Amino acid sequence: MQDSPPTLEQIRRAPKVLLHDHLDGGLRPATVVELAADHGYDKLPTADPDELAAWFVADAPRRDLVRYLEGFTHTVGVMQTAAALERVAAECVEDLADDGIVYAEVRFAPELHTERGLALDDVVEAVLAGFAKGMAVAGTAGQPIVVRALLTAMRSAARSLEIAALAVRYRDEGVAGFDVAGPEAGYPPTRHLDAFQLVQRENFHATLHAGEAFGLPSIWEALQWCSAERLGHGVRIVDDITVSGDGMVHLGRLASYVRDRRVPLELCPTSNVHTGAVASLAEHPIGDLRRLQFRVTVNTDNRLMSGVTLSSEMLGLCETFGWGWGDLAWLSINAMKSAFYPFDDRLALINGVIKPGFASLAAQSAFRVSATLR
Ligand SMILES: [Zn+2]
Repeated sequence: MQDSPPTLEQIRRAPKVLLHDHLDGGLRPATVVELAADHGYDKLPTADPDELAAWFVADAPRRDLVRYLEGFTHTVGVMQTAAALERVAAECVEDLADDGIVYAEVRFAPELHTERGLALDDVVEAVLAGFAKGMAVAGTAGQPIVVRALLTAMRSAARSLEIAALAVRYRDEGVAGFDVAGPEAGYPPTRHLDAFQLVQRENFHATLHAGEAFGLPSIWEALQWCSAERLGHGVRIVDDITVSGDGMVHLGRLASYVRDRRVPLELCPTSNVHTGAVASLAEHPIGDLRRLQFRVTVNTDNRLMSGVTLSSEMLGLCETFGWGWGDLAWLSINAMKSAFYPFDDRLALINGVIKPGFASLAAQSAFRVSATLR
């Protein structure tokens, strides 16, 4: 069966899964402008939504993670009331559903949204209310989607134990797991060991930003000390893989462990290029990691700052690596298998929605090719 390369429009219709997306990195530019006006927030570089969208994206390719994170000052600056958080969360769900995503885990750091007096619980409740609203709107529009929250603690701060406890407290209300994010250098995962131990004791879930800009020790600590189930990025695992002159691939102990144990890698290719972790999409290790059958998933990280959607990210991979429907289905099934969502519900989405959806799109595009050839 011939398989023509997927188009953006087709990929948008495919039932996709997103595991690594930041709530404060995915706002609609017009919403940032409106919320800034409501809040009396006067630090935006421009009040024109189109110019602001361009500013965020143009601001991204500075090849420096620390500088990249500065763009969040503005988005976080306007997400300081329950109403603003609920609106941003609802719009996030609608935008993801509109991109054809059927399951997503969206993360945010509650401790960043308390500048105007919200308690941590208020922040979580506002976001979860927004998610529920967004899911209802999307469902009514014929674009059913399930969205769960991951609560992030900032690795440079000292509130991770509190945030882990908060995540556990809201586990039955829509919080699916715990995460730690922020600059890796100087802040090893083991700094937050007590938080990860709490998550473990509670039979709860954790992922961890590790191996993005920083190397193997960070990944090793995340897995072997903090018992992270997934790696946020984890792209530097390639530092433990060598290819000899005759093309033989050798995996070091850590890379072997990651592959053998099927540790999911939450790869975010465009984000890695923008933060300077990887020079270009063509040089991104996702091609090699896919070939070596690591548990690869593809993600957006920050849709606003990187000017991407999950569909555009997948299209970029098809164009760069010659991937087709089989690869995109594999990525989506990998992501669903790796979700912090009950096993039977994962199976239902994989067998009832994802596999049939990709099979039908692949069949349609194969038909189009044979029709053209006739
Ligand atoms: Zn991230």
